[in-house]
Amino acid sequence: MDLFITIWLFIFGAIFGSFLGCMGYRIPNKIKTTYPSSFCSNCKKPLKWYMNIPIISYIFLGGKCAYCKEKIGFIYFLCEILGAVLFALNYILFKFDINFFISTILACVFIVTLVSDFKYYYISDRVLIMGAVLLIIVMFIFMDTTDAIMRVTTGIIMFAVMFGIKIMGNRMFNKESLGDGDIKLMAVIGISVGLLNSFVALFFGSLTGLIYSLFTLKKNKEGLIPFGPFLIIGAMLVIYFSSYITPYLEELFSI
Ligand SMILES: [Zn+2]
Repeated sequence: MDLFITIWLFIFGAIFGSFLGCMGYRIPNKIKTTYPSSFCSNCKKPLKWYMNIPIISYIFLGGKCAYCKEKIGFIYFLCEILGAVLFALNYILFKFDINFFISTILACVFIVTLVSDFKYYYISDRVLIMGAVLLIIVMFIFMDTTDAIMRVTTGIIMFAVMFGIKIMGNRMFNKESLGDGDIKLMAVIGISVGLLNSFVALFFGSLTGLIYSLFTLKKNKEGLIPFGPFLIIGAMLVIYFSSYITPYLEELFSI
């Protein structure tokens, strides 16, 4: 039964990942999310159903459009793989408990943001709000009302903390230090993992972002780093490794 659910989540995750990757392209480009159906971004021809099967089509078409042979971004293939792997992995790790729903909602926000932030330096408010609403619903279903309210408050606190960091950063470096999208995203992460873990997520996010920027900064003309996806990676690491991190933190702060 477990294997059966895992396989279905893998397939469903691939389909959902494909859809979310497409949203990451459509939202910043102001294309409606429901219409038209999938098309090649180069020659604009609509895709036939067999060119649109997650993971499989990309491999069989050799990563190229069947009509114009223009390369299809590897990032879209990555979205399908990520959707499949993360949906299945979350189930293997957590079954259907609260962490499954939190990490799967974060995975969805991650996939959209991966495309929109990496390709267009854009984090969609609509996606963040949708993520936050779903997370709050999950909190109220699985947690005591008081704890759920605490989590919502944590979101507001993290928003304020990031806003403070931005103002300080702007003064220190005399330029835009943090995107507004990153600030709002950190509020969503605050709701997901709680106050202490939010700072751990921020640390992991900065660390992975820094490592990435060391390898790619030369290629990037404006020196901008799409920070959003790294913040979510930080949050997901916190959820996956919380059984190791949380006891250590509790001891450190003797809560
Ligand atoms: Zn094409």
